[in-house]
Amino acid sequence: MLICEKIAEIRDFVRKRKGQGKTVGFVPTMGYLHRGHTALVERARGECGAVVASIFVNPLQFGPKEDFAEYPRDFDRDRRMLEEYGVDALFYPSVGEMYPCGFCTHVEVPGLAGCLCGRSRPGHFRGVATVVTKLFNIVQPDRAYFGQKDAQQVLVIKKMVEDLNMPVEIVAVPTVREEDGLAMSSRNVYLSPDQRAEAPVLYRSLQEAARVAAGGERDARRLVEMVRDRLSRVNGASIDYVEIRSLPDLKETERLDSPALLALAVRFGKTRLIDNIVLEV
Ligand code: AMP
Repeated sequence: MLICEKIAEIRDFVRKRKGQGKTVGFVPTMGYLHRGHTALVERARGECGAVVASIFVNPLQFGPKEDFAEYPRDFDRDRRMLEEYGVDALFYPSVGEMYPCGFCTHVEVPGLAGCLCGRSRPGHFRGVATVVTKLFNIVQPDRAYFGQKDAQQVLVIKKMVEDLNMPVEIVAVPTVREEDGLAMSSRNVYLSPDQRAEAPVLYRSLQEAARVAAGGERDARRLVEMVRDRLSRVNGASIDYVEIRSLPDLKETERLDSPALLALAVRFGKTRLIDNIVLEV
């Protein structure tokens, strides 16, 4: 696996692979990899002639009081995992390589970025859209792979790609979970043993609501209340949001007339966990 710290190097790699007629799949990550990330790599490996991954903890998508400095990092372990899963090239730039002195251009998708995580994390999706635009311009992939775990992120990126005519296909990959249902996340390592034991309630409460919706409940408020009620009884958990929103435009929804996104964010101490499920009707 080729490791490229410089933009020119990864560009050169991609140019050569494209010259050989290969399609290029791209998996952007912030590292500290787990099976959620490797599921994206496996999907890319199965569908593309060459696979590029990136590891970049993007300062632009963290708020001033968020965990940028403490975000978990383990480059050697990540490198070995990506190699094992057949990644051809890893783009691993420094902050200075991505944001040289004087950098000032940003990409915004205001319609989709103002609710759910965008409301709790002002500027987050602006940071995501900006870095993903840069990564797409640098790597120029044919396909890029994102996890459904970050459902709002996938919608923001799909809309950005459509609005700005970016020549890349966005592939959403289902959420990979621990055996007890907790969505895999690099941030799960922050959880204390007690918090970790409680955390599967997130997915259980989503599944319960999905079952009730599948049984005919169409009142979004009642479903949200059900989830909130379940979560509010969990020791040490504080609800950031529980919401049902339309797909793909994330509008507020009172009645479920078509598939909708039930999404939540919950804090366990300083650790904020997110999860979601699509309510099929
Ligand atoms: P991150 O390193 O957290 O920025 O995530 C990089 C990519 O992996 C994003 O597209 C995430 O949505 C995806 N991802 C993270 N966790 C999971 C998971 N448990 N299942 C599927 N995809 C995931």
